[in-house]
Amino acid sequence: MGLFSKSIKTLDDLFVHTLQDMYYAEQQIEKNLPTMIEKATDPQLKQGLQSHLAETKNQIKRLEQVFQMHGQTAKGTTCDAMNGILDEAKDILGVANDNDVIDAAIISSAQAVEHYEITRYGTLVAFAKQLGRQDCASVLQQTLDEEHATDRKLTAIAESRVNRKAA
Ligand code: FE
Ligand code: FE
Ligand code: FE
Repeated sequence: MGLFSKSIKTLDDLFVHTLQDMYYAEQQIEKNLPTMIEKATDPQLKQGLQSHLAETKNQIKRLEQVFQMHGQTAKGTTCDAMNGILDEAKDILGVANDNDVIDAAIISSAQAVEHYEITRYGTLVAFAKQLGRQDCASVLQQTLDEEHATDRKLTAIAESRVNRKAA
């Protein structure tokens, strides 16, 4: 599981650990989004997930940039939380068999992913500021803004159409 590969003694250690957690999590998201895109029927949902896949690839690059700025080698550490969220998504999509219900399940799963990302990037921004790394905080804030925007977009798609069609 490699949860804490090296002991965490300082806020700086915890900051680096959390960067590694998100580096792993974003790569898992990148791997799993194509299946969700494939299974989505609503055109706006499909397109929204597609553009978030492009953003996700860029977010991985941003994490690499922050590792570098902070004098660290970019590496991931297993995020059991993201693995769990993605396993649940796979399980539900494996048994749902109505296209509208599948769309509602995709949105619900994708929002669980975004909310995890929002909590972790929110923490990373706060830690970076506390550590005097406003430069790292600014880069991470860009990603946090994208995760928030994606979450809001998914809510709008669900509430304007998908949930009603699935009912
Ligand atoms: Fe992300
Ligand atoms: Fe995690
Ligand atoms: Fe995201």
